[in-house]
Amino acid sequence: MNITHIEHIGIAVENMEEAIAYYENVLGLTCYKVEEVADQKVKTAFFQVGQTKVELLETTDPEGPIGKFIAKRGPGIHHLAFAVEDVAEALNKAEESGVQLIDKTPRKGAEGLNIGFLHPKSTFGVLTEFCGKK
Ligand code: ZN
Repeated sequence: MNITHIEHIGIAVENMEEAIAYYENVLGLTCYKVEEVADQKVKTAFFQVGQTKVELLETTDPEGPIGKFIAKRGPGIHHLAFAVEDVAEALNKAEESGVQLIDKTPRKGAEGLNIGFLHPKSTFGVLTEFCGKK
C-alpha cells in the first residue's frame, strides 16, 4: 500500500465552536473549512498543519458513530488517517494480511476523498483510516 504521510488526525469534540476557538486563538491555526458529512452524522472542521490536517468531529446525532464514541470514551483522539494512492488496494492488502475491515470497499468522506476504515481490534486500538483520491 504506499502510505505517503498522515493525512489527518480525527478528534471527537462535544462543542465545535469552543474547539475551533481553542485551535484558532490558542494554537494560532486557521479553520479553512466546516463541512457536514450527512452519511457519517458529523460536522467536521479542518485545520492544515504542514502536510497533515486536524479534523474536528462533532456529532449531529447522538446515535451516530461520534455520538456513541463520546458517550463511551469521552472527547479526544478518534482516529488516525493515512494518505494512500489507492484506498481499495490498501483495504484489500490489509484484509489479505488478516486485518478486520470496517469498510470492505471505499466510500466518500469529507473533501471528496475516498476513505475506508480498519477495525481498531486489528490495529492495536487505533481506529485507522485510509484516505486517497482513488
Ligand atoms: Zn477521518
